[in-house]
Amino acid sequence: MNRSPLDPCVVIIFGGTGDLSRRKLLPALFRLSTEGRLHANTLVLGVALSAHDDASFQQVAIDALVAAKIDEAEATAFARARVRYHTISRDAPDFAALGAHIRELEAGSGLPGNRAFYLALPPRVFASTIDGLGAVGLNRSAGWTRVVVEKPFGKDLASARKLNAHVHEVYDESQIYRIDHYLGKETVQNLMVLRFANTIFESMWNRDRIEAIQITVAESLGVGTRAGYYDQSGALRDMIQNHLTQLLTLVAMEVPSAYEADAIRYEKIKVLRSLRPLTQDDVVLGQYRAGEIDGEPVPGYLEADGVAPDSTTETFVGMRVFVDNWRWQGVPFYLRTGKRLEKKLSTITVQFRHTPVSLFDNFGRGNEPDQEAPPRETADVLVITLQPHEGFSLHFDVKKPGGVFATQRIPLHFRYDELFEGIPAAYQTLLLDMLEGDQTLFVHADEVEQSWAFYAPLFESHPGVVGYDAGGWGPPEADRFALACDHLWKDRWDNKEPT
Ligand code: NDP
Repeated sequence: MNRSPLDPCVVIIFGGTGDLSRRKLLPALFRLSTEGRLHANTLVLGVALSAHDDASFQQVAIDALVAAKIDEAEATAFARARVRYHTISRDAPDFAALGAHIRELEAGSGLPGNRAFYLALPPRVFASTIDGLGAVGLNRSAGWTRVVVEKPFGKDLASARKLNAHVHEVYDESQIYRIDHYLGKETVQNLMVLRFANTIFESMWNRDRIEAIQITVAESLGVGTRAGYYDQSGALRDMIQNHLTQLLTLVAMEVPSAYEADAIRYEKIKVLRSLRPLTQDDVVLGQYRAGEIDGEPVPGYLEADGVAPDSTTETFVGMRVFVDNWRWQGVPFYLRTGKRLEKKLSTITVQFRHTPVSLFDNFGRGNEPDQEAPPRETADVLVITLQPHEGFSLHFDVKKPGGVFATQRIPLHFRYDELFEGIPAAYQTLLLDMLEGDQTLFVHADEVEQSWAFYAPLFESHPGVVGYDAGGWGPPEADRFALACDHLWKDRWDNKEPT
């Protein structure tokens, strides 16, 4: 796709002193700058409650960049040239003063009035900040005005609708960039290339050839310092409703009419509309107990600071979803995510159907003689990996060389970092797209509401949680939502395979 040159603009980061800004946004903007993607006059204006002047906030930015392993001299040059600061009050935020500051910067640097407002804020102030911007006319300018809204976008269908209505009073949908950073990962975008640029996959991407699909986002970390927030949220809201559901729509969608935002978002919404209503039988929610990870003891969820002692918040979700359309009728999609699992790992696993007749069942599978031959469940499998190494591997049988006729399962693998240098971080990709006005990898209002509507029954009647030991793979009750080839992705992380 042709990319138009980047316009000079001001990137206004609300929450400029916060964790997201320091760990992700400032490093991403730095890299865009060093790669020549930011216009020479583009400025970054941090906005937050803390009292800083330009110089002291520039130091915050330099420290953040150095912490992200960026050379201090380069970090300093970037911060001094591009980074500015504006303090705003919590109780009586003066948006008119912010507007005046932005106009002053624009006049000083010859900027034409293009503005990107990034709301890296606590969700409770999303709506009031948007109101404030609208009230002083910061929703329109001589150039373009865009607003990036971080997750979580609402906490249920009603609040998401309310927030959408609120945002739409101030900004048009074409100005709004709802971010889901999973969509910025190379592998997620590559999923579309894999499917739509290669007949080999797309011709098999249906109920005739695919047995089941599993989307796993496993974390070994617990809730850490986010326990207070997390206890009000849980894995359904924090991971399933947004990230895993977005991945599901990209895996399941029809071929769009073009690689552009409206066409792709239209197809994703069609998938969400085709989801079969969930029953309680389709879902297992879990909560981690104390256990061991990498030989170290870790406490249980209920022991974390900020978690209610009788909390029933889920830290694990295993579920089965069906897409009731012609392509996917009868194919289960298993979604699974959890904290304090054995390894950090994000994969999309596509299990193809068995051959109708197996010629080689009696010939063994190349196992050691004293090993019991695995059952004939090893259908071909495509494992798309988002973390820790972006890439994919296709697992299939080959004949083992030698006199004794035996087959062996081998992976054909592709890893981004083995083939390409300098894979951009997800936030870098998404910031660049936003600055270019490309909404393809951002989430439309209808997608957000449709997704919340799908999960609404689980919020209205929470199924309750079962315990699981930290360091395992979730509660055994959820094992029924696993592929027959599930051992593949577990074994791979015992260094048995390269991807
Ligand atoms: P932090 O708590 O670290 O930072 C919050 C920021 O907001 C601070 O800069 C704070 O200013 C500022 N702030 C608070 N209230 C106001 C207000 N009324 N007006 C202006 N600024 C205000 O949060 P995070 O950076 O972790 O998260 C920000 C958003 O990003 C959240 O919506 C979160 O869900 C989302 N997010 C965060 C991720 C992360 O990795 N951190 C990942 C994905 C999403 P000050 O410091 O001066 O008090």
